[in-house]
Amino acid sequence: MISPHSLRGILPRGSTLFVAVSGGKDSVALLHSLWRIRGELGIRIVAYYINLGIPTFSERSEEVVRSLSRDLGIPLVITDLERDFGFTVPEASRATDRKPCSVCGIVKRYLQNRVPRELGASAVATGHNADDFAKFALKDLYSGEALWLSKISRILASEDPLLLPKLRPLIHRTGEEILTYVEENDLPYVRERCPLAPRRDRFLEVVTVAEGIIPGFRKGLVRGAERLSKSLKPRTPPLVRCSICGEPSSTDPCSFCRLRMAVERKS
Ligand SMILES: [Zn+2]
Repeated sequence: MISPHSLRGILPRGSTLFVAVSGGKDSVALLHSLWRIRGELGIRIVAYYINLGIPTFSERSEEVVRSLSRDLGIPLVITDLERDFGFTVPEASRATDRKPCSVCGIVKRYLQNRVPRELGASAVATGHNADDFAKFALKDLYSGEALWLSKISRILASEDPLLLPKLRPLIHRTGEEILTYVEENDLPYVRERCPLAPRRDRFLEVVTVAEGIIPGFRKGLVRGAERLSKSLKPRTPPLVRCSICGEPSSTDPCSFCRLRMAVERKS
């Protein structure tokens, strides 16, 4: 699933890579395939799970991640949003009137950087696949926002000393290829979709239709976007430090602290 040479030289030998695992097929395949090549790369891997407090779904996902990490002998770090930060994704969504997916995105971006960094990680890997990136590329072109276009890359270098580099080793793998890998290796994974996710994802539907007409469309689009991204300047606003938590952020307070404060105000 991941060839060691695609990651060679990116992480110094002896360094620690945190792997963000949600329990879904993509992150399960990511963890397993990195675990397989960790010796060759000379790195240590740690699984990282965030319990977002989504009733039933989060508990089931945590169980899958616990059992996989135990079976593979991979150390597992868990952040429980409610226990460690006093709120859940559904609560923050209600308190801010933001869609749960947008709240979840803020929480994951924040914690997947802060927690691994505080625990000595050199980088963090996520399981985004070709379907995800094809969708992001299309959405970006459509909206003209280019939030993602400049970031469609296997490796996203850090733009701040407090931001970890991000690896997306599955960027050129389709959802079907990943599912085949997970099934062939008999890996446990969460089959159901998040109950808070919207029922339809229209951009993903467009990508799927296009793939039916032009086989290889997703990989082609991602490769094209990746080439293009090298000549694009990332449109990220200058980063400041959040006056509450001290983390790098484009706003002060940061989006994560604002979620927390909104929940506190409501209760
Ligand atoms: Zn903050």
